[in-house]
Amino acid sequence: MNFFEFNKQFPTELACIKYFITIRYNNQIKCNHCHSNRVSWRAEQYKTLQCNDCNNSFSIFKGTIFEKSCTDLRKWMYAIHLFLNGKKGISGYQLQREIGVTYKTAWRMLKQIRLAMGNPENQEFIGALVEIDETYVGGKPRKGAKKDDDDDLPKNKRGRGTNKNVVVGCVDRTNKSVFAKVMIKNKEGKKLTGKQLLDVLNQVVIQDSTVISDEFKGYNILGKKTSHIHLRVDHTKEFVASNGAHTNNIENFWGTLKRGILGIYHHVSAQHLQKYVDEFCFRYNNRSNVGMFDLVLKQAIL
Ligand SMILES: [Zn+2]
Repeated sequence: MNFFEFNKQFPTELACIKYFITIRYNNQIKCNHCHSNRVSWRAEQYKTLQCNDCNNSFSIFKGTIFEKSCTDLRKWMYAIHLFLNGKKGISGYQLQREIGVTYKTAWRMLKQIRLAMGNPENQEFIGALVEIDETYVGGKPRKGAKKDDDDDLPKNKRGRGTNKNVVVGCVDRTNKSVFAKVMIKNKEGKKLTGKQLLDVLNQVVIQDSTVISDEFKGYNILGKKTSHIHLRVDHTKEFVASNGAHTNNIENFWGTLKRGILGIYHHVSAQHLQKYVDEFCFRYNNRSNVGMFDLVLKQAIL
């Protein structure tokens, strides 16, 4: 969808509201309090309804990312459109210019859109053939390091003595879907534990899968405490093991995530990192989904 197509489909605020009502209520608006369908609009703005049975009023945006916002739904929808159209998203400054709101409003809108992206209706379980890997994002560079990247270090030294954040992720090799979680910070210098890795795996991977990891010791737990078949690739020796095992898909995803965060957002604080990770997971998992715009609107209902 380009700018002209957007304008054609959503020429007015009312057109946007009608579209949202179709998505949220399937055209059957029911009272938020008593679920009666005997409701009528309270004012001309088509945002607040009055229930003719229980006499309460309610907003169609209650319980969504749009609640408490004074910005027009049309601006919100155009922001979602821009955010999804750009392969790596947009910055608050770009959005501020595009839709004519303050930077603070633009920043908050992007935060809320990310919240919707990280709100899947059901977390789908993945399995059969899964790659797992960990990476270090953000923070200040190591003392004496030239660039903000630990990838040139041996695995067991990465992220130590720095304030980098650890992200653990799995890719389902069959349908190429990704799931990634920011780990709660260990004490400075403490290594990522096998239990943390297992916790991520258990959230999405079905039993008896084949799980491929690199040589990092934390993954030893996979052979001991799970029913998974564990394959390994030793990156100090090879990119693909002699049995064909590799973790190229999850590593490509880390590449996209890091380039995206560096290129567009420059710096992400630890506090917000999970939302950015969710955004990039959503983009990756929906890269060929033509219904991506509607999906964000559906997931905007929290
Ligand atoms: Zn009611």
